[in-house]
Amino acid sequence: MLKIQENLSNVKEQIKNFATSVKRAPEEITLLAVSKTKPVSDIIEAYQAGQRFFGESYAQEAAEKITEIRSRGITDIEWHFIGPVQANKTRIIAENFDVVESLDRARIAKRLNDQRPPLMPDLRVLIQVNISREPQKSGVSFEDLPELLDFIDESCPRLKVAGLMGIAENVSDKSEVLPQFRALREVFDRLSGQGRKLTALSMGMTDDMAEAIACGSTEVRIGTAIFGARQYHV
Ligand SMILES: *Cc1c(COP(=O)(O)O)cnc(C)c1O
Repeated sequence: MLKIQENLSNVKEQIKNFATSVKRAPEEITLLAVSKTKPVSDIIEAYQAGQRFFGESYAQEAAEKITEIRSRGITDIEWHFIGPVQANKTRIIAENFDVVESLDRARIAKRLNDQRPPLMPDLRVLIQVNISREPQKSGVSFEDLPELLDFIDESCPRLKVAGLMGIAENVSDKSEVLPQFRALREVFDRLSGQGRKLTALSMGMTDDMAEAIACGSTEVRIGTAIFGARQYHV
């Protein structure tokens, strides 16, 4: 078996095991393959193994890969932007992605809304919440989340809020991330209870997938376990 194909199959098996161990249905959990820094050939290998949801973090790099992949006739991939959104990259993102998971500011929401091409479907967004409360991390605070949601409701008709995303603190004792994931889950449930149609609770990466699934994640974003360690060329 090809390496990425084998990795994908192992990750899916893990998701299944983690889900069933907490009495959840594995089908409730979407696997987002995080292909940032990885070449088009890796994405195609994963695609050929059946993977359809991919996450990218760098707008320019992603746009080039998406264009290349579409030019090969592959048009049924759902692309998720998961990196910090810089104001000067909103147009590229609005023109190339199906979902933005890392929306955390009104100004960026407005730009994505205004720059979404008229012929494309509404842009699905997840609000990234700073669940670790580390000051240097992206994400809106729990306290400021309601105001951001109100702003999008009122001023961004081309955006469709589909859920919440969180990145837990990178700690060696993984039990420490449980309260962070639980807090996001509670907000997700509260908003759903208020009548918001949220479908995506995106939490969990290679090293904290089990904890995220135990806390109700409906989407795990997995890079390293599928594509191997990333190498950054600077
Ligand atoms: C890179 C990245 C991931 C994937 O991380 P791995 O540890 O490689 O699985 C997930 N989510 C976000 C937001 C990322 O930037």
